[in-house]
Amino acid sequence: MSQPRPTGDENLDGIFIDVEIDESLVGDAELARKLEEACPVDIYADAGGRVEIVRPNLDECVLCELCLDAAPDGKLAVRKLYDGTELRR
Ligand code: SF4
Repeated sequence: MSQPRPTGDENLDGIFIDVEIDESLVGDAELARKLEEACPVDIYADAGGRVEIVRPNLDECVLCELCLDAAPDGKLAVRKLYDGTELRR
């Protein structure tokens, strides 16, 4: 008999990393494209012109800050859940 599969978004969240993007930018098609291109571990996807956070990939973050380079200052943060600090410009 197979084990029940986890359900709900909370099971897909990163344990070590979270990403916060300002709500006003989620529908920015140009930014969605840039973030998808920039992140080496596919944490961002261009979902038809909207920024989608690919939550199952969050813990793959290598803290390269390329997403911060792509986004306007102050509008995106990479939170290090393991020490309570964050990367933000
Ligand atoms: S810091 Fe680098 S690896 Fe982490 S989310 Fe941003 S672009 Fe991706």
